[in-house]
Amino acid sequence: MASNTSSSPVLTGKVAFVTGGSRGIGAAIVRRLARDGAAVAFSYASSAAPADELVRSIQSEGGRALALKIDSANAAALTAGIDEAARTLGKIDILVNNAGVYLAGTVDDFSLEDFDKTLNVNVRAVFVAAKAASRHMGEGGRIVNIGSTNAERMPWPGGAAYAMSKSALKGLVQGLARDLGPRGITVNNVQPGPVNTDMNPVDGPHAAAMHGLMAVARHGHPDEIASMVAYLASPEAAFVTGASLNIDGGFAA
Ligand code: NDP
Repeated sequence: MASNTSSSPVLTGKVAFVTGGSRGIGAAIVRRLARDGAAVAFSYASSAAPADELVRSIQSEGGRALALKIDSANAAALTAGIDEAARTLGKIDILVNNAGVYLAGTVDDFSLEDFDKTLNVNVRAVFVAAKAASRHMGEGGRIVNIGSTNAERMPWPGGAAYAMSKSALKGLVQGLARDLGPRGITVNNVQPGPVNTDMNPVDGPHAAAMHGLMAVARHGHPDEIASMVAYLASPEAAFVTGASLNIDGGFAA
């Protein structure tokens, strides 16, 4: 989405931190930001092998990447990991809050443990990471959260906590945009529809039902989400802040 008229990639000299970068949408974002010239640190919960492989593949293309095992639900560990990345890579210009969980269950059977986990990973960690990363950011800093089109439309039972967590991000980016705008830092929310990942595979049992709700009846590719993130992370997007942008094949239309 971002055009690049200079000879060097658009994010050359920038440093990014991506939560949940080992798989799925997060891995596509890591690859895209690295291809756009950024040095990229990313976290993962348990997938050490794919995380290490992603680091190797970026390094083999001449890029700089760093994988850190950090449970986003652990605020102290997340803050320490962001500080470590800033120390190692010099600063942080771009934070992408991508790590998320989808725990399903109707109000009758959804446990409070799952409710708390949903809030801790999908919402609390976003605030914690924004607080930690913004301390390392200067003018032109970028915070991009991966929300969900389920903030706009939750068309089946069992998704109340998830939809609530992604709706919370809409308010969070509006407030954070106000806090950080005077420092030249933008804060935005990307809201994907169904995207083909381990969380929501294209051959999963609910795919056809999802496609039936969409204007463009297919799953998105993780690279399509990474493209919108790359635009919001770029200098071109300096006037976009406090926004929640759907990229969902018309799921919420
Ligand atoms: P996946 O389940 O495929 O990947 C999740 C990633 O997040 C993995 O890298 C995983 O690490 C990491 N992660 C999960 N929990 C934690 C944690 N507690 N701490 C640190 N890292 C964690 O998910 P997707 O790529 O599909 O989803 C990415 C984001 O996009 C999520 O926020 C999701 O809610 C959102 N989204 C997804 C949609 C979809 O259809 N796929 C649609 C709309 C929004 P590890 O590999 O170590 O487990």
